[in-house]
Amino acid sequence: MEKKTIRDLEVGGKRVIVRVDFNVPMKDGQVGDPNRIVQALPTIRYLLERNAKVVLLSHLGKVSHKDPQQAEKDIRKNNARPIADVLAKLLSKPVEFCDATRGEVLRKAVESLQPGQILLVQNTRFEKGEEKNDVELAKEWSALGDAYVMDAFGSAHRAHASTYGIPALCNDSGKPTAIGFLVEQEIHALSRCIQADEHPYVAILGGVKVSDKIKVIEGLLKKADRILIGGAMSYTFMKAKGVPVGDSLVEEEQLDFARKCMKEGFEKIFLPLDYTVAERFENPLDVKNTNGPSIPDGYMGMDLGKASIAFFAKQIKGAKVVFWNGPMGVFEQPRFSKGTVGVAKAIANLKGAFSVIGGGDSAAAVAEYGFKDQFSHVSTGGGASLEMIENDGHLPGIDIIASKGA
Ligand code: ADP
Ligand code: MG
Repeated sequence: MEKKTIRDLEVGGKRVIVRVDFNVPMKDGQVGDPNRIVQALPTIRYLLERNAKVVLLSHLGKVSHKDPQQAEKDIRKNNARPIADVLAKLLSKPVEFCDATRGEVLRKAVESLQPGQILLVQNTRFEKGEEKNDVELAKEWSALGDAYVMDAFGSAHRAHASTYGIPALCNDSGKPTAIGFLVEQEIHALSRCIQADEHPYVAILGGVKVSDKIKVIEGLLKKADRILIGGAMSYTFMKAKGVPVGDSLVEEEQLDFARKCMKEGFEKIFLPLDYTVAERFENPLDVKNTNGPSIPDGYMGMDLGKASIAFFAKQIKGAKVVFWNGPMGVFEQPRFSKGTVGVAKAIANLKGAFSVIGGGDSAAAVAEYGFKDQFSHVSTGGGASLEMIENDGHLPGIDIIASKGA
């Protein structure tokens, strides 16, 4: 059902909690690529222009609360304060920062906001209850606002206190909830990959996070005409088929699942024909193209081989819808970027196709190699875009938002 958007809200003078995804890469305490902040600007500007009091919540990195010593380290590392400065520059206006994630200090900081002012709250994951969707925490946070806006697409697959607990309580207490412009745009783009009524539909999967990603294959088997599997994910499939993979990365626990997928989708799943391999990851001296898919002992697969690049390009040709997640190789090293670049080029050459790429590293790769503008949509959510396809358009952080007409 269509969700309420911020256009449906009366926000003037109201305290509006906005869950954004400011989980940006940090380097030496500084913000690296600010893309995720930039993507949230339309929603933030819209609210400020209409004199809302804007309260931004986001997580940043991981905080391991199980181990107190590690938690202390994580908290030192994942301080969100530098984000407030970057945001202030982008908005050309002051951004208040509140170092407290709950309690009197936070309440006062929100209370002192004037219409048209903005406050960024410290990393939500500093609170143990965030990832557990602790109800007391959600209560405290929801009391800070008169309305809630979900614009953190990259976090919408997680039912945490800030992505699920707050809007659930808002709904219960009659406070409006809505999606922001970024989430609206993501839903719009991804729905073409979910409805899947344009064909041929080609899905390309790669990267390393096999266990996070492999489940989407089941969903894609029902929608896509061809599923091309490259990157480290492909070694798990090769091994499952009995093809030697040398020392390449394999997720042993996923071998049975890979076998099941290949059985169900034997005519749809396409694996590489050859690989670029090396004897080690760092400073490899011996780099070669295999003859066929099998990788000799003492070598690791690093990228697609020449034949695979041509083969994948051929499978992409003529596609009307393309969904891509995960690089085809260790693209950070230029010598192992050819597979990723080859796939990006094949997609860029399509005429009149709708192409979506999701995943932090995949998006970085197409940006680095200059193909970003040739994609119809670059999703800000890796896991979220995959789960959305897997769950036929549903994500907890979006499902909980009020629907139009409700
Ligand atoms: P995304 O962020 O796009 O979802 P992942 O995080 O799953 O993608 O994977 C990206 C990483 O996968 C990159 O750092 C890349 O170096 C690595 N990778 C891709 N192919 C291989 C491979 N063949 N062997 C090892 N690592 C690989
Ligand atoms: Mg990644």
